[in-house]
Amino acid sequence: PTPPVVSESAASPAIADDKFLFNQFLSGHTRMFERMLETRSLSYSNGPVPVPNNDQYLLENVQSICICDTDEWVKKGEVLLFWQVKPLVHVYQLSEEGPCEELGGDGQHSSFNEWALPAKEFDGMWESLIFESGLKERLLRYAASALLFSEKGVNPFLVSWNRIILLHGPPGTGKTSLCKALAQKLSIRFSSRYPQSQLIEVNAHSLFSKWFSESGKLVAKLFQSIQEMVEDESNLVFVLIDEVESLAAARNAALSGSEPSDSIRVVNALLTQLDKLKSSPNVIIMTTSNITAAIDIAFVDRADIKAYVGPPTLQARYEILRSCVQELLRSGILKKFQDKPLDILTFPSLKEKLLSSEMQEAGASLTLSRQLLEVAEACDGLSGRSLRKLPFLTHAATAHTFNCDPSKFLCTMIDTAKRECSER
Ligand code: ADP
Repeated sequence: PTPPVVSESAASPAIADDKFLFNQFLSGHTRMFERMLETRSLSYSNGPVPVPNNDQYLLENVQSICICDTDEWVKKGEVLLFWQVKPLVHVYQLSEEGPCEELGGDGQHSSFNEWALPAKEFDGMWESLIFESGLKERLLRYAASALLFSEKGVNPFLVSWNRIILLHGPPGTGKTSLCKALAQKLSIRFSSRYPQSQLIEVNAHSLFSKWFSESGKLVAKLFQSIQEMVEDESNLVFVLIDEVESLAAARNAALSGSEPSDSIRVVNALLTQLDKLKSSPNVIIMTTSNITAAIDIAFVDRADIKAYVGPPTLQARYEILRSCVQELLRSGILKKFQDKPLDILTFPSLKEKLLSSEMQEAGASLTLSRQLLEVAEACDGLSGRSLRKLPFLTHAATAHTFNCDPSKFLCTMIDTAKRECSER
């Protein structure tokens, strides 16, 4: 009865370079998908759906179909059929252009990157990020409300809000990835209002590390191009500033005289430009910081969402590792059980099984799941980044190269996890 489900699907290839024709092509697909989904009695669960092989047109034009965000609506164990819900379909084509880099003053490191969204590089990133606390959903809802308020022209003097997000926490916990994935998601969801979107990633640290006088020019150039993008109302622009604390550090260093006085002008120019940008309705500013103490920059102070992203909890660690092991099973690095693909239990169903009597009839998948839980317990304190490296390090430590026994692999993984923790 309520329209709950959002589904996404990727279309390829483009039939014309012309943006108008392409958008028509996409909206035609959207209607077709809606009809297709309504007539099919598939049950909803998050994840990819096979492209129906009895439809030649879809087979030729569609790369993948993915259903997402059903969690809120599908209660545990309950199956919703397509006719019970009204899916929201977003058809999109991924940009394969790659980042467009601008070199920094030293000619070596790029100080900002620019992507046309949705980009191929960020495909699947949102799904791969696991946080226990509903952080992803909160950010998505927040950003969607902010864009809606802008679009509907809500008077900011009467109702105030802004489009600044600050994610802070220890390194490697997925802050930068989350910002990029969020930008990708929003570019897809708001594509009918904003047919084009870009992500500009500014690495604050590299911008201020060397050659301050050059940085001044860079900042000017950067904001000039951002301003041009923003002026086009059909553009949605995301500005991501990584390691935003280095702006405050650079300014303080300049004030105390340990940096050339030029730097203060650069930092101030950047902050003023950001302040100006903030008032444009089609810009979202995302910032990340590795320090959790207050950052002494006014514009960050005004962030509507300041979310702490901490090290993954036991459940998140388990789920991150589960996705790793499943990938190793899919690719054949780990051996399938009696030639059948093994399913590793999700954290909630493992907990349930461990509490119930079903535990007696321990099948292969339950045994593996319990071993994986041991690994997750041994990884207390490791960041998401270290967890995603763990299966590789484990493989490098084993004698086998291919078709490894999953159970033995997980045993080695416990040792590798303990070693990683002790070497931190
Ligand atoms: P940060 O910006 O906090 O330093 P990154 O976004 O650079 O962290 O994260 C690095 C990588 O670590 C990500 O690409 C991702 O593969 C992995 N990772 C970190 N946190 C998580 C998480 N919560 N869930 C899944 N993967 C994660």
